[in-house]
Amino acid sequence: MSPAASTPAASTLAVEAPAWFISDLHLTPGMPRTLAAFERVLERAAEQARTLFILGDFFEFWIGDEESEAPFPRAVAAALARLAARGVPVYLMHGNRDFLLGPRFAREAGATLLPDPTVIDCAGHRVVLTHGDMLCTNDTRYMRFRHWTRKPWIQRLFLALPLSWRLGIARKLRSDSEAGRQRPGPPRDYGDVAPAAVAALLRDSGTAAMVHGHTHRPARHDEPHGLRWVLTDWDLDGPHPRAAALQLDAEGFRELPQLD
Ligand code: MN
Repeated sequence: MSPAASTPAASTLAVEAPAWFISDLHLTPGMPRTLAAFERVLERAAEQARTLFILGDFFEFWIGDEESEAPFPRAVAAALARLAARGVPVYLMHGNRDFLLGPRFAREAGATLLPDPTVIDCAGHRVVLTHGDMLCTNDTRYMRFRHWTRKPWIQRLFLALPLSWRLGIARKLRSDSEAGRQRPGPPRDYGDVAPAAVAALLRDSGTAAMVHGHTHRPARHDEPHGLRWVLTDWDLDGPHPRAAALQLDAEGFRELPQLD
């Protein structure tokens, strides 16, 4: 069985419309404009949305919930908690960079951690949500990494390491990826989803629509088995500004105007 055919959440999460979806903000203190745009989106969401989904890679990296004590994550958690306090539930899914986001951060952010994948029911639409990395089954090296790093016992071992060791490991992983990004030539290839994995997830979840991020290839795809919305990553500090959100309500999906 392919890794994409992992068991979808048994139950369906019913949420109020309009629901907003964002992903891959890669928040880090080094990207102040991106953080400012996120805070503006939260302001808008408080007025216009009834549910907010953040579909992974919310932080550039996360090495354990002790990070919640640092000023930057604290400010982010407080901003999310303000939205939740205004009556808009916030749901957080793990990405491949922040899969160690834990219950402590979620509590401080007033957010609910979601399993990947999760099926939602919103305004009569059944939709499967995933970060998207599990669909990139052609990247066997990454799938192996994912397989091991998502094992709870491996995570417990990692989290038991001193924070300074974990930081060292995270910096090493990050500098490898930065080196890849700064290579001259065409933009770095993040890998794309495998059509068979998309078909399997739609089939196994009994849905005809999917929303994911991760691939940095924002688009609306009409797949043979359903609709697939790919969210953009966010970056308002670099040369190609992007920070879009997707909305779902009774009328279906709609891209929200880009913020800058
Ligand atoms: Mn990702």
